[in-house]
Amino acid sequence: MKFFVTAVNTEVGKTFVTASLLRAFLQSGRTAIALKPVQTGCEMSGGRLVAPDVSEYAKVNAYSDIAPIYAFKFPASPHYSASLEHREIKTDEILKFIDAHSAQREITLIEGAGGIFVPLNSHESFLDVMRAVDAPIVLVCKNELGAINSALCSVYVLRSHGLKIAALVLNFTDEKDEICVSNAAYLKSKLKGIPVISLRKFQKDDFAAAARSFENFIASLNFNDPSQMDAGAANLNETAAIALDAAQRGQKDANLDENSKNSDACFALDTAQVCEQDGEIKSSHVAPPLMSASNTGPIDLNFDAKHLWHPYTSATHPLKAHGVLRAEGNKIYTTQGALIDGMSSWWCAVQGYGSETLNAAATAQMKEFSHVMFGGLTHAPAVNLGKKLLSMLPQFDRIFYADSGSVAVEVALKAAICYQQNVSPKKNKILTVRGGYHGDTFGAMSVCDPVTGMHSLFSGILARQIFAPRPSCRFDAPFDPSSTDKISKIFKENKDEIAAIIIEPIVQGAGGMWFYHPKFLDRLRELCDEANAVLIFDEIATGFWRTGRVFAYEYCSAAPDIICIGKALSGGFMSFAAVLTNEKIAHGVSRNGGVLMHGPTFMANPLACAVSLKNLEILCAQDTAQKVAQIHSDLQEGLRGCRSLDGVADVRTLGAIGVVEMKEAVDVEALQEFFVKRGVWIRPFGKNIYLMPPFITPRSDTQALCEAIRDAVKLKIYKG
Ligand code: PMP
Repeated sequence: MKFFVTAVNTEVGKTFVTASLLRAFLQSGRTAIALKPVQTGCEMSGGRLVAPDVSEYAKVNAYSDIAPIYAFKFPASPHYSASLEHREIKTDEILKFIDAHSAQREITLIEGAGGIFVPLNSHESFLDVMRAVDAPIVLVCKNELGAINSALCSVYVLRSHGLKIAALVLNFTDEKDEICVSNAAYLKSKLKGIPVISLRKFQKDDFAAAARSFENFIASLNFNDPSQMDAGAANLNETAAIALDAAQRGQKDANLDENSKNSDACFALDTAQVCEQDGEIKSSHVAPPLMSASNTGPIDLNFDAKHLWHPYTSATHPLKAHGVLRAEGNKIYTTQGALIDGMSSWWCAVQGYGSETLNAAATAQMKEFSHVMFGGLTHAPAVNLGKKLLSMLPQFDRIFYADSGSVAVEVALKAAICYQQNVSPKKNKILTVRGGYHGDTFGAMSVCDPVTGMHSLFSGILARQIFAPRPSCRFDAPFDPSSTDKISKIFKENKDEIAAIIIEPIVQGAGGMWFYHPKFLDRLRELCDEANAVLIFDEIATGFWRTGRVFAYEYCSAAPDIICIGKALSGGFMSFAAVLTNEKIAHGVSRNGGVLMHGPTFMANPLACAVSLKNLEILCAQDTAQKVAQIHSDLQEGLRGCRSLDGVADVRTLGAIGVVEMKEAVDVEALQEFFVKRGVWIRPFGKNIYLMPPFITPRSDTQALCEAIRDAVKLKIYKG
């Protein structure tokens, strides 16, 4: 277990607190160590640079005599002291240093330098290290005039960045000084859920006396079972959320006085024990961070539940929605804590969240112009993205930029029909397979699976298409040629009517997460060639390495006439999609003065084009296939154990997709809440509990995702 000790300012006794806390942990029987990765103001002694803070730890524990990885002579901010010695501080080196020294210890205390925003180099501060370490924070404040403001500002910043606060230590507390006493009382009343520990002005080196002040705090921590501690924390979060709800509804909460409701809503956070004024622990209470980092104010979950539609929900009985404070890397920071993302936000956030490169691409374009109509105008982002796409998909000729996957499918269907109107006007039906999903607009819905899609809801309105059975031969089984018999028969019977076949290649996504054999697609190509039908591959979900190949159809020999791409195209940055057609279709549509009758307002949005281009450049430059292969082997290993569990029908993996198919439909809400408590974000549907993590997911996080699924199945959470 790690704790990060930081302070509201320099010179508030952070090192004394760290050393005393170290002593308290050692006294409680834990193996503990203190580390100071960066120290300025070091002095030469005995031929080496000695870090004064490390010398303090060493008085408590000989093992803590570990030289900082960055020790500088000049006593100033690290970025400046380093520059005087022509050195640069690298946060990844700091993280490696922490990892290397914290192994084998139950407790590692990491002391920062100065406060939260103390710069380490031109672009990073200690906050970046704290966020990367993601350990609970011990915040040290000097109990004096001004302490309330500096403590609350620091707490606000830490929470806005999703960090948990283990304790606030009010150092130099003089119990006879009315300012000190009133500071402590006020902060305790505001920081519900955070232990506020008052430390008297001890004599220098009297670590033993100071350590006694931490005894209650340490006794409240659960070391034996960290997973239980997490579960406990999450449960306690609920309590605080309810309190917050009450406060927001304007109901009088016993603990909140009328005037402090709003600020309590902002500050009633985190995973710790409430310490009463006398230092005795009275009750446990954990509340989630509710303030969004972008200063948009607290997230009003009541308003959300009452007035905002979420996907596929009832207006009167909506499923629970979690407030997101920020998302970064492969983590989503919610009001319930940090969650490892297992969904890539429905296939799209392949590079995780908050990529500075994608942000920079958007910002640069924004400075030029964020949008202009595409009718009669064009721009470099659209043209450059087009060049990039054609280099990745050389068999295509024309690109139509659409604003979402569903719209792309509409455009693809329109293009196929327009083509046939100029070539074989009687062909106006679409053939597809059961178990497919292509979006929620009317044309797209008409080719979704008629049962799991919404056909019964809209019967009489939806275009009636032709359906063949789901491709039955598994991706990983030897090909069974008879698996194409049925679709061949249906095609031949209706070939005069069939304008196009549309299908998700290799992976049927939202229609069942089913992986089928590539040779099925080769057969479709033959059928389309025989009767001049248009072959459309919907790669909106599968495109851009998700299945292990850049595009899923690379597993087969066939190429489609039209391809739809979306989702990961913009790296999950914004809604964007495209339809690419080959020359035959482009020219066929335009024959006899024909035009493709579609033109969204936000067509070829320059921001979306600029971000997508950067996203594709990054994906192509990196070893994306290797990353996906690693995730695949981690998923295979991590989910293997599910096969033998009760209730499991099938376990399958392909590329960065892992699926545990249950025998019956699962209870989505029960599973979602279990997963949130486990610190992972997994949203099952139908019978499937599945993973498609961002490609940047580290192995340990893929393992954590798989473990959470294994436990959910073992504990039968899916039954509700
Ligand atoms: N086609 C497929 C294969 C999809 O998975 C989806 C989205 N899940 C769509 C089309 C529709 O895309 P959008 O949600 O962007 O409209």
